[in-house]
Amino acid sequence: MRSFDENLDLYARLAIRVGVNVQRGQRVLINAPLPAAEYVRRLVREAYAVGAYEVYVDWHDDQVSLTRYLMASDEALVDIPQWLVQKHETLVDQRAARISVYAPTPDLFKNVNPQRLASATLAQQKALKKVSDAMMVTKASWLVISPATPEWAAQVYPDEAPQQALEHLWNEVFRLCRIDREDPIEAWREHVEGLEQRAEFLNRHAFKSLHYEGPGTDLVVELPKGHLWLSADETDEQGTHCVVNLPTEETFTLPDRNGVNGTVRATMPLNYNGVTVENIRLELHDGEIVKYEADSGYEALRSIIETDGGGRRLGEVALVSQDSPIASSGRLFYNTLFDENASCHLAIGEAYPTCLKGGRDMSEDELLAAGANRSMTHVDFMIGSDELNVTAKDWDGNAVPILRKGRWAF
Ligand code: ZN
Ligand code: ZN
Repeated sequence: MRSFDENLDLYARLAIRVGVNVQRGQRVLINAPLPAAEYVRRLVREAYAVGAYEVYVDWHDDQVSLTRYLMASDEALVDIPQWLVQKHETLVDQRAARISVYAPTPDLFKNVNPQRLASATLAQQKALKKVSDAMMVTKASWLVISPATPEWAAQVYPDEAPQQALEHLWNEVFRLCRIDREDPIEAWREHVEGLEQRAEFLNRHAFKSLHYEGPGTDLVVELPKGHLWLSADETDEQGTHCVVNLPTEETFTLPDRNGVNGTVRATMPLNYNGVTVENIRLELHDGEIVKYEADSGYEALRSIIETDGGGRRLGEVALVSQDSPIASSGRLFYNTLFDENASCHLAIGEAYPTCLKGGRDMSEDELLAAGANRSMTHVDFMIGSDELNVTAKDWDGNAVPILRKGRWAF
């Protein structure tokens, strides 16, 4: 068995070589919370080891963010300085790889005035629109990855002593990210290959629609002509392969922004912006969310949906089989990166242009006309369960089972 140190090194190597796949001479920007410092140091070392030109680290501290949300003036909260925007846009132009090291502190912001939280988020989304647009078309490689932290571990294993909970979570993270395999890098190549085969089947059939049926869910999702099923294995504009989420178990595409009808109920809580949103229920008519409810965190849900016009529509449909290792663990991680890979999900907001043939080169108007939703937000929520059936329909009206009792049916 490998030591913790060896596993941590491998987890960093996986991020750098398979995740963002850093190329010789490339710049790398890492955004990370302080409790992830030990992991981040190793990311930096691995990046230089494969020839990174320069690695920049943007540290943040959740407690400092909380203080700011509570105490900064309304004016300052929405005032994003130009130098900050310039820095990010310069790095986009330089095709820097971006790593977002994400470790949630669930419910940290639950006492922040939801209006202030929403307007601060919106101001940031507006100011950094060019950066998120670049990521949506994978101009350069990017990655979201989560190291275990004491705050996150305490939420996942509330009954365990802090040290034990942290070790427990690390072991789960390593197992679910295949770090426990003989050769984790090779194990990922094989896994990604398997996901690609699912995507190929779905692309060969180019289905017209998907019908979701489960408790509280009866939803028909039309798929636009020219839609493409993708896995998290992407190719950036330079032709570099990258895997943008680690772990990843999903195969996803975009819905027709005007073609979603029925009701859908989330099967897991959503941790959004430090607020837990429970039991989301949506009703959609011709693609528009006409009714929405949640048992808690309603204000957070509302801020997502009211981000802009596109916040009222869906931008992603993702299929995950319930026998994926994360789903089999049966555990709620309160971290969308893990929870969305345990479960079929939908996203409110922006669609990935790469999910359309030729989408990367389309203008905003062309994307809209092709059925791709446009928004400043993109938030996944989970709808998978052992009771979910998904049936596809082709253009001749034939029904093809895709998921039965939450598992692949093909
Ligand atoms: Zn997804
Ligand atoms: Zn998503």
